[in-house]
Amino acid sequence: METCDYVVVGGGPGGCVSASRLSEDPAVSVALIEAGPDRRGFLGDCTAVGTLLNVPRKTPSNWAFESTPQAGLNGRRAYQPYGRGLGGGSAINVLMYMRGHCSDYDEWAAMGNPGWSYAEVLPYFRKSENNQTHRNEYHGNEGPLWVEELRTDNPYHGIVKQACREAGLPFNPDFNGAEQEGYNCVQVMMKNGERFHIGKAFIHPHLGKRANLQLYTDTECTRILFEGKCAVGAEVIADGARRQIRARREVIVAGGGFLSPKLLMHSGVGAGQELQRFGIPVVHDLPGVGKNLMDHLDFILAYHIPGDPNLLGLSPVAGVQLAKAYRRWCKERRGMLATNYAEVTGFMRLTPKSTKPEIQYEFVVSILVDHGRKLVTKHGMSCHVLLLHPKSRGTVALASPDFRDQPLLDLNYLSHPDDLKTIVEGTKRTDAIFKTPTFRRLVKRNMFTAHCRTDEDWAEAIRNRAGTNYHPVGTCKMGNGPDAVVDARLKVHGMQGLRVVDGSIMPKIVGGNTMAPVIMIGEKGADMIKEDWH
Ligand SMILES: Cc1cc2nc3c(=O)[nH]c(=O)nc-3n(C[C@H](O)[C@H](O)[C@H](O)COP(=O)(O)OP(=O)(O)OC[C@H]3O[C@@H](n4cnc5c(N)ncnc54)[C@H](O)[C@@H]3O)c2cc1C
Repeated sequence: METCDYVVVGGGPGGCVSASRLSEDPAVSVALIEAGPDRRGFLGDCTAVGTLLNVPRKTPSNWAFESTPQAGLNGRRAYQPYGRGLGGGSAINVLMYMRGHCSDYDEWAAMGNPGWSYAEVLPYFRKSENNQTHRNEYHGNEGPLWVEELRTDNPYHGIVKQACREAGLPFNPDFNGAEQEGYNCVQVMMKNGERFHIGKAFIHPHLGKRANLQLYTDTECTRILFEGKCAVGAEVIADGARRQIRARREVIVAGGGFLSPKLLMHSGVGAGQELQRFGIPVVHDLPGVGKNLMDHLDFILAYHIPGDPNLLGLSPVAGVQLAKAYRRWCKERRGMLATNYAEVTGFMRLTPKSTKPEIQYEFVVSILVDHGRKLVTKHGMSCHVLLLHPKSRGTVALASPDFRDQPLLDLNYLSHPDDLKTIVEGTKRTDAIFKTPTFRRLVKRNMFTAHCRTDEDWAEAIRNRAGTNYHPVGTCKMGNGPDAVVDARLKVHGMQGLRVVDGSIMPKIVGGNTMAPVIMIGEKGADMIKEDWH
């Protein structure tokens, strides 16, 4: 049996950041447990190829879940890619560096979470960040997390910006600065054109150097061990063998929005009645576990732009272009293979009265459909439309008492009528960008929504095609109410020695991509743990 001070379960952004920061103190020992591999080499480094191969299907780096049938999506199941391996989602995702709207955090604080207002979390965003462009009060320039401009040099950046200008949208020099609204190219969590996932940024530099940090990959935690209401370690399985890793101080759960509640429930922490149904002994009756699931629903518009080799597609001209791009990436880490796909983005307010953007639009330099699971050979551009502040709430529940089974993921998309109205309006406005003179000259065909005339046409197109933008959060909600799971210091209510430090603690989803906020949660979580044990 191994023993350390902190056992961190889950090697995604929440787990890597907290394990890294806790192990800064040589007097404490930290074990970081991750179910998937520590992937190195070309697939780990090249964002374009790694994402393309991992996201569409189940691989050692992608759990590849499915939701339950979604009434709001005309009964379809929504495919849910979910990172597996050191870095978690950051090892397969598209690395956009986005924090959401500053008022999102003020809302968290107002929901009964002291310490989480924007002014109080900003120092933690800055602490992790090493921004290569922005040097001001909003940004950090000394943290482990490299944030840089995309290195694709794609002429479409200028074209898309021109079209946005023609559509009357404002330009935004920095989405994470004074204002969120507007369009621009993305800043990415890449280093010199390579994927710089959170394991690379926060864990690799310390392996073999910090004797007090132990990384266990390809090792899955099957349950948390308790003595009474105190967490004392983790049961893990690796190569088919089970063993225990004991924690003298705390067990930190960081399995992400789908898997943190699953682990808690398998360990006996959750709605008592539901656990008993599966014969799981109840350690603590906590009905909020797995509730409050939120995600950014995403609808993809797509436009055929024939034969343009600057847009990824399958054609003879693309073959030549890709060969050149590969050589350039090997030599300079620039060009087409340095892409994160979603190269230009923007945030949109739908009415002058809106206090913050309701919609994000992400321009992708290829026609990506169904998470890359359907092959589209044509060259063209797609544009994701994200519903930033959904009112619908879903659940994560156990499917069986067997930890190997995927949990039941009911995102409950579009169950609140306001959500459909908002995304219909946002989609129409985004489609208008492709009707500007600049795009009219280029676009040959609107591939999926040319028939949409009325709001009902748009609503039906959305129900038939929308899916996830990969941001499941909220299932171990921070707060004080009956549905809360952790308090504002991320301690699980009613338990000792047990915290959750990942995206699942968000009481309300932030209005933007979720990874930088989770890194912030990791930074702040680690600081609070250090303070509490001081
Ligand atoms: C395809 C895709 C694209 C995305 N693009 C972006 C983007 O551009 N920008 C952005 O900001 N966000 C993006 N995201 C979202 C971002 O990746 C997540 O917000 C972030 O990774 C969440 O971090 P987390 O620590 O909460 O959980 P995760 O990243 O999900 O990490 C959880 C980790 O815990 C491990 N784990 C779970 N249970 C156990 C267990 N029992 N035992 C051992 N290990 C366990 C999992 O294998 C996983 O590695 C994207 C996500 C995906 C999937």
